[in-house]
Amino acid sequence: MRFALAGNPNCGKTTLFNGLTGSTAHVGNWPGVTVDRREGMYKKLEEKVTIVDLPGIYSLSPYTPEEIVTRNYIIDEKPDLIINIIDATNLERNLYLTTQLLEIDCPVVIALNMMDSVLKDGTKIDIKVLEFKLGVPIIPISALRSDGIKSLMEKAYATAKTKRVGKSVLENSDMSNQYGEIVSLLKKENVLHPVFQAVKLLEGDELSKKDFANLLPKIEKVKNTISLKEELEGDFEAAVADLRYKYITANCKGIIKHTKKSNELTKSDKIDKVLTNRWIGIPLFLLFMFIAFHLIFTEDLLFLNKFGVLEEGILSPGVWLQGAVGQLFGFLISGTGDVLANIGASAWLIGLVVDGILTGLDAVLSFLPQILMLFLFLSIMEDSGYMARAAFLMDRVLRRFGLSGKAFMPLLMCFGCSVPAMMATRTLEDPKERRLTVMLAPFFSCGAKLPIWAMFSVAVFPGNADFVVFGIYLLGIVTAIIAAIILKKTVFKGETAPFIMELPAYHLPQFKNVVLHLWEKLKGFVLRATTIIAGAVVVIWFFSNFNFSLEMVQANSADSILGIVGNFIRPLFIPLGFASGTLGWKAVVATISGLIAKEMVVSTMGVLYNPGIEGDALEDQGASDALSVTLATSFSPAAALAFMAFNLLSVPCMAAVAAAHGELGGKKWTALTIAFWIGTAWIVSFVVFNVATLLGFGG
Ligand code: GDP
Ligand code: MG
Repeated sequence: MRFALAGNPNCGKTTLFNGLTGSTAHVGNWPGVTVDRREGMYKKLEEKVTIVDLPGIYSLSPYTPEEIVTRNYIIDEKPDLIINIIDATNLERNLYLTTQLLEIDCPVVIALNMMDSVLKDGTKIDIKVLEFKLGVPIIPISALRSDGIKSLMEKAYATAKTKRVGKSVLENSDMSNQYGEIVSLLKKENVLHPVFQAVKLLEGDELSKKDFANLLPKIEKVKNTISLKEELEGDFEAAVADLRYKYITANCKGIIKHTKKSNELTKSDKIDKVLTNRWIGIPLFLLFMFIAFHLIFTEDLLFLNKFGVLEEGILSPGVWLQGAVGQLFGFLISGTGDVLANIGASAWLIGLVVDGILTGLDAVLSFLPQILMLFLFLSIMEDSGYMARAAFLMDRVLRRFGLSGKAFMPLLMCFGCSVPAMMATRTLEDPKERRLTVMLAPFFSCGAKLPIWAMFSVAVFPGNADFVVFGIYLLGIVTAIIAAIILKKTVFKGETAPFIMELPAYHLPQFKNVVLHLWEKLKGFVLRATTIIAGAVVVIWFFSNFNFSLEMVQANSADSILGIVGNFIRPLFIPLGFASGTLGWKAVVATISGLIAKEMVVSTMGVLYNPGIEGDALEDQGASDALSVTLATSFSPAAALAFMAFNLLSVPCMAAVAAAHGELGGKKWTALTIAFWIGTAWIVSFVVFNVATLLGFGG
C-alpha cells in the first residue's frame, strides 16, 4: 500500500515522515523539477506501507512546481490514501487545502498535528464535530512527540481499504446547479476524479483545461449561466476560493474554543518580542551568524591573540577539525605513495593516484568538518523555528533586489562554499528566485578563493593586503547586487513571490531530527563532490602532464596540453591585462585550472612561477618569498586586481557547476549560467583593469 502525506509548508510533514519511516527513508527528485521526493516504509502494520512525503503546498492550483508535483502525484499515481496533515494551531488556514484534497476520489485521513501546542495554549478543538462536517476521520497527533502516530496509521490502514468519492464545498453553494451539471458531464465521459476536475474547470484551471479541451465549449456554456458578484470581475478562481473560505468559517465556528484570554502572550510571542524586534532583530541575527562563522573558521578563537592575551591564537573547532582531517589524508596520501612505490608501480600511475585523485579529494573532503558544522548550526536554527524568523527579518532588505527573505541563508552560506549554498536554494519556492540565487552564488567569495587573495595581496600590495582582500569581498557583493538588478529587469521579470510563511512556535530542536537532517545533506555533498572531483582531477592531471603526442612532459609546463591550450586562448584574456607578456600564458593556465577547483589556482601558480621548485615547496618560507618576487615583477597592480576579479566571479569549481546543474533544472540553464558567470567575470575584470590603469596602477 502507498500513503501520501500532503499539507501546508511547516505543518510538520517531514517530522511525521521521519517518525514513520526512520532509516528507510530516501530522497530523490521529482522528474523534471528540483523538488525533493522523499519516500520510506512504515512497517508496523499487517503489511508494509510506502509513505511518500509530498511537497508542502497551500493549494492544488498549477502555479508552483510543488503544487503541480503534488497534484500530479495524487491524480496519476493514485496513492491508496492521502494523509492530510493539518497544523491545528492554524486550523482555518490549513483547511483551505483540505477542501481541495477532499474533492479527489481518494480515501483521506486527517492528521491534526501540533496538538501539544494546542493543549498548551489551552485551546479546545471539537474534533467529533469537525469530523462529522468534513466526512473523513480526524486523528489528533503530535508528530514532534510521536503522540497518536499508531492510531493514525491504524485508522489510515482501515480507511485505505474503503472507497471514497470526492466531495466539494460547491455542492451547497449558489453555483451548485452548474457545478452539478459539469460533474455529470464529466461522469458521462468517464473522467477520473470528476468532482475535482469539475471544480478545476469551473475555476478555469490551465492544466485541466488542457486535459479536457474537447469539453470546454460545453463547460463555457454552463459557466455563462453563473452570475458572479460584480467585484469578482469574472474571476472564477477567486469566486471558488471565496466559497472555500466561507465554508471554513461557517464550519469552524464553535469548534475552536480559547480558554485563555486572547491578549495573553505565549512564550513564543515573548521570545519574538526580542528576536524579531525592528531594531535589534537584525543585529542579533548577525551576531548569531558571526558566532557561528567564528566557531567554524577563525584561527584566533575569542580574539585572544588579537587582544594580546595569548602569544598565538587558539584554533576554532572547525579549523582544528579541518587540520585533523587534512593530516589523516596526508597519512593516507603518503602511505599510498609508499605502497605504490614499493610494489614498483610506474611513475605515471603514482602521479595519477597520489598527486591527482587523492590530492584532489583531499582538497574538497578536508572541508567536510567545516561544512558539517555549518549544516549543524543551520539545522538547529531551522528546527528551533528561528530560521523562519531570520528569513522574515531579511525579507524587507532583500526584496529591493528582487529576492525574498528565504534567499538570504543560501547567499550567506556562499562565503563558506557555494556547493551546499546552491543545494540550500531548495528552500526557495519560486523557481525564478531559485535560479537567480544560484546564479549569484559564486560572486560571494568562498573559502577556496581565500588563498588566491592572500597570495596576491601580500606579493603585489605589501602593506595594503587587508584593504585589498576586503575590497575583493566587497567587489563580489556589489557585482551580485548589480547583477541581481539587471537579471530581475531582463531574464527574471515579474513580481517577487509574496513571502507567506507560518512562524512555527519555538521549541528545542529534536536530536533525531537534527541528525537525520545532517545525514541527508552530508550524503548528497560527499557523493557529488567525490564523483565530480575525482573525474575532474584525472582530466586536469592528464592535460597538465602530457602533450598532444601523449608523451609525458614536465608537469604544468608550457609543453603540456594545458600549456599549449593556455597559450592558444591567451588572446581572449589580453584585454584583462594579466595575460600579456611572456609569462602571460601561465596566468591563463592558472585561471583555467581554477575553473576545476579554486584551490588549484595557487598550487598551479606556485609551480609555474617558481622554476625548479615543486608545488608543495610553497609552504617553505624561501620558496614563497621567491614566488612573491616573481609575482610582483610579473603582475602590475592593475593586472593583479583584474586577475583576482576574474577568479572571484567566474565559474567557481566543477563541484559548484554540478550543484548548480542539479538546482537549475535543465542543461540549457546550466549552459546559460556558466556563460553568465564567465561573461560577468570578463566584463568586471576588464573594467577593473582599465579603471586601475587610469588611476595609475598600470605598472
Ligand atoms: P514540513 O514543512 O511540513 O515538512 O514541516 P516540518 O516537519 O519541517 O516541521 C515544521 C516545524 O514544526 C518544525 O520546527 C517542527 O519541529 C515543528 N513541529 C512539527 N510537528 C510538531 C508538533 O507536533 N508539535 C510542535 N510543537 N511542533 C511541531
Ligand atoms: Mg518538509
